[in-house]
Amino acid sequence: MAAPSSVPRRPRIVAGNWKMNRAASEGAALARELAALRAGDAASGKSPVVVICPPFPALESVGRALAGTGMRLGAQNLHAETHGAFTGEVSGGMLAAVGCEWVLVGHSERRALMGETDAVVAAKLRAALRDGLTPVVCVGETLAEREAGRTEEVLVRQVTVAYHELEPERARATVVAYEPVWAIGTGKVASPEQARDAHRVIRATLDRVVDARAGHELAILYGGSVNAGNAAALFAEADVDGALVGGASLEAASFWKIVAAAGTAG
Ligand code: PEP
Repeated sequence: MAAPSSVPRRPRIVAGNWKMNRAASEGAALARELAALRAGDAASGKSPVVVICPPFPALESVGRALAGTGMRLGAQNLHAETHGAFTGEVSGGMLAAVGCEWVLVGHSERRALMGETDAVVAAKLRAALRDGLTPVVCVGETLAEREAGRTEEVLVRQVTVAYHELEPERARATVVAYEPVWAIGTGKVASPEQARDAHRVIRATLDRVVDARAGHELAILYGGSVNAGNAAALFAEADVDGALVGGASLEAASFWKIVAAAGTAG
């Protein structure tokens, strides 16, 4: 029997971000399809952690459909405060109360369309941890930033602001998603080498900002036009621990092919 490694393997994680798609009943139907696929896989024992992030109104019905499957419920956003006069916002405590365990923080659509700054993302990351949720901290460069040779600078800045002075044990309760903005919803996936290089920059930054082992120990997902056809090549990179999937998470069979690829890689 092989000796156990002294360094635990990072978890493999596949998260589906449904964005503003699927109302409560449609979401529950999709979640039931996923539950059936999961039940078929249960015997193999190789499933990655699967996290489903529906829109707020579908959280409860999707949570019911996922109950007992081992799949996790996540939200797409939270407010940094616990309660109060923040019309239209939802706190981490409210998400936890409907069964959420995970939450996306700083998705590029929120940064670009809702004006979320690095400082807002840092506050939301801390709020998620305070409320017992696992935050998936999304970072990534725009096309203009990549073409200007600024990818590394942008990633270093986003990760540094998010993790600045966060206690190492709390930082280890988070997950990072590298999502190049030019790859999200465009069909233009990053090459495995581009993803690897970005993940290495993120790991080195975590080592500097958190502590010397953080970069090695935190899971980093790749997101941006992941589909059933390109997932395996991405997961073959040792620095890619899974995927955050948008469009391809809206159809059970295609999403499950990505989950299966994550389960067999590594
Ligand atoms: C996302 O929204 O996080 C995402 C990666 O979207 P897509 O897979 O559609 O590019």
